Amino acid sequence: MSTSSAPFFQNLYFDENYYLTEKAKALNANGEGEWTAATTAQAIADAHMTPWEHFSRFGAFEQNANGAIGINPSPFFSVSDYLSSVAYVNYSSLTAAINEVREAGDPITHYATKGYIKNCTVSSVEEGDMVVFPTRHDLNKTFYFNEGQYLENKAAALSSINFQGQSWTAESTAKALANAGMTAWEHFVRFGAFEQDAFGDIGIDPSQYFDISRYYSDKADLIGSSVEDVIEAFHAAHLDPISHYTHYGFLEQLTPRATGLDPIYMQNESNVPPRSGDALIDSLLIREDTWASMNRIAGDDNIVHYHFLSKEEIATEVPIDYPNETPMTEAQIRGFEQAFEVLAKMTGISFEETSRTDNAQIICMNANLGISSGITYTGFGTKEDAVIVALDNTGSSKDANANPVFGTPGFETICHELGHALGLEHPFAKQMDADHMEHTNIPKSIETKAMTIMSYEEGNSTSASDGTIVAPWCENGTFYYSPQDILALQYLYGTDGINGSEGVTYDDVLA
Ligand SMILES: [Zn+2]
Repeated sequence: MSTSSAPFFQNLYFDENYYLTEKAKALNANGEGEWTAATTAQAIADAHMTPWEHFSRFGAFEQNANGAIGINPSPFFSVSDYLSSVAYVNYSSLTAAINEVREAGDPITHYATKGYIKNCTVSSVEEGDMVVFPTRHDLNKTFYFNEGQYLENKAAALSSINFQGQSWTAESTAKALANAGMTAWEHFVRFGAFEQDAFGDIGIDPSQYFDISRYYSDKADLIGSSVEDVIEAFHAAHLDPISHYTHYGFLEQLTPRATGLDPIYMQNESNVPPRSGDALIDSLLIREDTWASMNRIAGDDNIVHYHFLSKEEIATEVPIDYPNETPMTEAQIRGFEQAFEVLAKMTGISFEETSRTDNAQIICMNANLGISSGITYTGFGTKEDAVIVALDNTGSSKDANANPVFGTPGFETICHELGHALGLEHPFAKQMDADHMEHTNIPKSIETKAMTIMSYEEGNSTSASDGTIVAPWCENGTFYYSPQDILALQYLYGTDGINGSEGVTYDDVLA
């Protein structure tokens, strides 16, 4: 799959009003008159630039009102901190860092294409400020709708039918929508989601992370109806696929699929999956050579076998060294089966129970894990091609884990641990030594369970009308894989499972 997180981060971290206000403040601090966001916007427009173009060509490298380098594009991206971070990881001067960032375009694009690989740090302007997704819809809209990519896709569709006898660009399309009094999102919801794209499929894709026509056909498969009927029903109900996914689809276990899932062949003996080039994916990939990746250890029949250890097996095989090791209960087995069902729909992998340990790739049990709700290990005794998943049966997660019904915190733990089993890492980097991080991280401002179930952070930034803090993805009943998880799992496995025509394929599986 070839995607880049640059459009996502440009969209997330460039807030036009914030930027114009900051630029006006910088001009005023410089004694250049009385500037407001509006007069600054006019001056930039008079110079035939968009605010984004102004930021990437000038503002990112200009002095701000505080005298530091860089007019900040949003409260969640401190340019001067970022430039310092680039200099720090490169052991270079600030000037050299600025030159490197300029070459990539601007600081946001540099982070998404180059900086994240070196663990350059994105910090908020006010330390600790988090991006707020008040509702699941806000999250999904931010993740799956990218205005720039949507306009490009719509322009390609218009050009493909030679609409009004001209060729269309994102800019001319944006202008046409503005003349019609619509935002790009409004156009998508009312029209684009039901229009033919440049390839003849129904639905102008809202971003690289959401293939609309695949969503329609997945929904048709789910309910045993025709694609045409699904599209008609969505249209009649005024439901675009992103909104449908938010309100219904995620509970029906439908998953958005990225466009352009391509096969990736491993060329070496290493167990480490190749980088995707997309920070949202790469920050979730386990990169340990010793990890028992399902792509490598499962057979080429696309079946991952799981096994629940019996009391006798636990007594004789001592798989891990924790107290109070017990078998899974019936309720827990049902929780695992539901999670496997979800993962099967998401990745196309078949999960089947086996009664033996020797042909199992995922082996499950309980133990007293103290403060951890679950753990995942690679290796079962001398058997290296297996992963052990254990749930806590004694500590603070005891009650939640006893009844892991779909969407509950116990179910979340199972999803999180199975995420590890399938090759997902936590999104926060652990310090290896003073200068090196163990793996790629994502910016703290978005590192929450809203983005990935592999995070420990609840995303506690949302105030309900009565002032209580809520995070919709952490309410009981809705614990589930988040957009970043789906993206990373589909990078590893595609949607057609192990050794399919999408996802990562290892040489020794092919052989
Ligand atoms: Zn974990």
